[in-house]
Parts: sequence; C-alpha cells; structure tokens
Amino acid sequence: MMFAAAAAVRVQGRRTATAYAFRSFTSTTPLAEQYDLVVIGGGPGGYVAAIKAGQLGLKTACVEMRGRLGGTCLNVGCIPSKALLQSSHHYHDAKTHFADHGIVIDNVSMDIAKMQTAKAASVEALTGGIEYLFKKNNVEYFKGKGSISGPNGVNVELLDGGTESIDTKNIVIATGSEVSPLPPVPVHNAGGKIVDSTGALDIDKIPETMAVVGGGVIGLEMGSVWSRLGTKVTVIEFMDRLCPAMDIELTKKFQTTLKKQGFKFNLKTKVVKSEVGENGVTLTTEKSKGGGEKTETFDIVLVATGRRPFTEGLGLEALGIEQDKLGRVVVDAHFRTAVPSIYAIGDCINGPMLAHKAEEEGIAVTETIAGFAGHVNYDAIPGVIYTYPEVASVGKTEEELIEAGIKYNKGTFPFSANSRARANGSTEGLVKVLADAETDKILGAHIIGPNAGEMIAEAVIAIEYGASSEDLARTCHAHPTLSEAFKEACMDTYDKPIHF
Ligand SMILES: Cc1cc2nc3c(=O)[nH]c(=O)nc-3n(C[C@H](O)[C@H](O)[C@H](O)COP(=O)(O)OP(=O)(O)OC[C@H]3O[C@@H](n4cnc5c(N)ncnc54)[C@H](O)[C@@H]3O)c2cc1C
Repeated sequence: MMFAAAAAVRVQGRRTATAYAFRSFTSTTPLAEQYDLVVIGGGPGGYVAAIKAGQLGLKTACVEMRGRLGGTCLNVGCIPSKALLQSSHHYHDAKTHFADHGIVIDNVSMDIAKMQTAKAASVEALTGGIEYLFKKNNVEYFKGKGSISGPNGVNVELLDGGTESIDTKNIVIATGSEVSPLPPVPVHNAGGKIVDSTGALDIDKIPETMAVVGGGVIGLEMGSVWSRLGTKVTVIEFMDRLCPAMDIELTKKFQTTLKKQGFKFNLKTKVVKSEVGENGVTLTTEKSKGGGEKTETFDIVLVATGRRPFTEGLGLEALGIEQDKLGRVVVDAHFRTAVPSIYAIGDCINGPMLAHKAEEEGIAVTETIAGFAGHVNYDAIPGVIYTYPEVASVGKTEEELIEAGIKYNKGTFPFSANSRARANGSTEGLVKVLADAETDKILGAHIIGPNAGEMIAEAVIAIEYGASSEDLARTCHAHPTLSEAFKEACMDTYDKPIHF
C-alpha cells in the first residue's frame, strides 16, 4: 500500500517537475501550481532534501536567502575551514617535517592572500555545483528569504526585489544555525579584532597572538590553522576539559598533542570582559567558579562558544510550531512539527550540529514525505575534528557505557606500532574500540591519529551493520595501511593484537 502511494507521487511529480523547470522568478503574483515540497534553507540539510525530492519526482522548490547554496557548511563552515586547514598543514609540513624526508627548502614562507584565494575557489566551485544539481534534478531555486504563511504556503522576499507566494503540500524547515553570542565579548567581524568562526576564515594577516574562547571543535580547528602559521594560540575554556562530549581518554591525549604543537590552555576559566584597543583586545578572565581575575591582551580574539538554531522570521509562533528552550524546532521521530504538513531538519532541530547529520535527515524527511520509510540511525553519526592529528568518534564513549551500566570490552592500538604510520613519520595517537562484553557487538570507536576522519567510516559501517569486534578483526585489511591499526584494536578487543 505504502509503495503504491509513493509510486503515484513519483509519476505525477515527474510530469509536473519537468513542466515548471524554467519558471521566471520575477513575478509578484502568486504561483498558481501547487508544489509537493518547498524547502526553506539551502544548506546540506535543505539542498539534500530538495535534490532527493527531485529524484523521487516530487515537484520541489528550495528557498535560500544567502544568495548562494550550500548553507553554513559550504560557505562559512566545513569547506572553507578545511581548505585553510589543508593549506596551513602543507605550510607547517614544509617548514617542520619535509627535512625529515630529505626535502630541504630554504625560506619557506606563507602567502595568506593566495591561501584565501584557494579557499574561495573551493567554495565557489562547490556552491555552483549544488546549483547545477538543482537544475539536473528539476529543483526550482528561489533566491530570497522565506516565511511560512500557513500549513501550505511559503512567501519569499526575493533578493532582487518583489515577493513570491508559493502553494505547497509540504514544507521542510532547514534554516540551520547561527553563532551564539557571548555578551562579554561582542563579535565585530569587520573590525577584525573580535571575530567569530566566519571572521576567522577571512583573517588576512598572521596574528602574533590569538585567544580562542571555547575549546570545542570549531575553536580548535580554527586555532590550529593560525597556530600552524605561527600564531601563539591560547584556548580559554569554561569546562575542565576540551570537547566535553568526547571520550575522556582521547580528550586528554588530544590536549597533550595540541600542547606539544604550542597551544596554551586556560581551562575552568571564563571571560568576563573584553576591551578593544590599539594594541589588540584585552580580555579579563576569572576562574569558572569565580575569583582569580587576570587580564591578557591578544591581537585577535576568536569567539567559538557554540551555535544556536536560526529560525528568525519564519513565523513559527503564529503557526503554533513549538521550539524548545534552546530554540530548536520540536519535531517527532519523522521530523514532523505540530503542523502535519511542516517538517524540520538539520541544525535547527535536536541533535549534533553536523553537516552529514543534516544530510541524512534531508534524505529521511523526503523519503517520509514521498511515502517511504525514512530513517536516521543516530547511534551511527560520526564526529570528526580536522586538526592534526585528526580526532574521530562514533557511538558510545567509555564514560557513557559506564554510566549506563553496560559491561564492555575495550581494545586499543597505538599508531606507533602501525607500520604505515611509522613509514610516514606520523605515529601520534591510537585507535580505541569498545564492544559489548557479552555479544562483542561494537558500541563505540574513538580514534586520534593521522586520517582518523576517513578511518572512522569503518567503525560507522560496523555499528550500522551490528558487527562484532571479531568480525572486523577477521576482516583482511590492506598492508601497509593506517586502517590496520583499526583491525588490531579490534583484535585487542576480543583477543590479542599481533603487532603490539
Ligand atoms: C566553522 C565551521 C566549521 C564546521 N565544520 C564542520 C565539519 O567539518 N563537519 C560537519 O559535519 N559540520 C561542520 N560544521 C557544521 C555544519 O556547517 C552545519 O552542521 C551544517 O551546515 C548544518 O546544515 P543545515 O542545512 O542544517 O543548516 P545551514 O548549513 O546553516 O543552512 C541553512 C541555510 O538556510 C538559510 N536560511 C535561513 N533562514 C532562511 C529563510 N528564512 N529563508 C531562506 N533561507 C534561509 C541560511 O542562509 C543557510 O544558508 C561547521 C560549522 C562551522 C561554523
């Protein structure tokens, strides 16, 4: 029954989607035809939902107010930050590690403008690529700010002027998130002294000193970029450790690694005041519990204390769509809000603020709307920190298993015992695997080491398919590869590793 209904939508949708693919967006009169789906927000959640809908034959439109598709991720998040991380990694390698391999380069220097041009080129190519995918899949693209006029209506204030009213059977809210402000340290990206992650992507000169307020993923990645280029980076963190959701064993190792790279850490510390002067920004800090006031001046301060859902101007309140106290749109297990035709996904709902989580939800919500059984397995969403070495995790941490009273076996394997890591001259870190003590089913994997972000995919697949550590340990891995460390950690989990 479900499949018959879905098939009907597909056939009808294909016909209509082709017919309206070349609409002009300059009219101010309401569009007469009804869409199957209008997605508000063209980030990874929204554009994936829209493309999938086009592929399923739904008549689909996507409304994006930025003027470019790709959302935070492609424009001011994942991609530009990784481009800078890659450039700064090359520079750091050339300066400090090439000589170990017999490559001698005198006077290695950094052209920041060129690095920024390379970053901009990646962003440009990728955002343009999404526009191409929209055309390929018959998704209409409205450039403007969307608001919801009712259960089946979206109004768009077009960027080029004028408005458009769209009639639609379903609406997906995928409006993402924005930087959370920290009142004692007001961000002014244009001033270039107190910046957020967006401002930190555009720094045009290597600062001598930088304070990163917030020891989470974004702060540590952006801090790494500038630390590798020679900036003295101090991380100020309210909690007693970095990345509080991470497995503690890895957090400790991670902090030691970053310290060796020159990072300074002021943990259990809060910023209570900032003053911008000619010589930079003077921060006044206190211990998190109060007392111990100190001041220090930095060339640049990066505020990276988190992000919050962005739903401004959508008109949710008038529709009776609930938001929780953190501003997240409340949805059921099928991403449906209190209004049955309106759904929400990505950073603006509960869950980790990650592009791939938003993308999975984009597929699932569209499949649900088309009558299929859309689903996201939240136990198998990896998290990666793209520092060097990288840190990657999936599933439960050791602390979570202890708290839940689940008995587990733990296996570890250091990269110092992995032949490829040794040949590469990059032996920092380890793989840690956690498996159920009774069934041996893998419950969590945590890696700090070279290429951890790629290697974690193996653990994600293992969790998705309910594999045991023995399954992975008995799976042949190519030699010499870093992934052999994962196999050996699995061997250690259910028995013994060979090479350690
Ligand atoms: C510096 C940085 C680095 C990051 N690195 C990573 C990483 O390495 N890996 C990872 O997985 N995640 C990373 N993230 C997080 C990732 O970018 C987000 O989780 C992801 O972009 C969320 O996708 P989304 O579609 O929910 O929202 P967004 O990407 O925020 O997209 C929402 C879009 O909706 C638009 N919009 C909002 N309101 C309206 C409206 N009313 N009308 C029309 N359009 C509207 C916005 O302009 C925006 O383009 C990073 C974030 C930052 C800031």
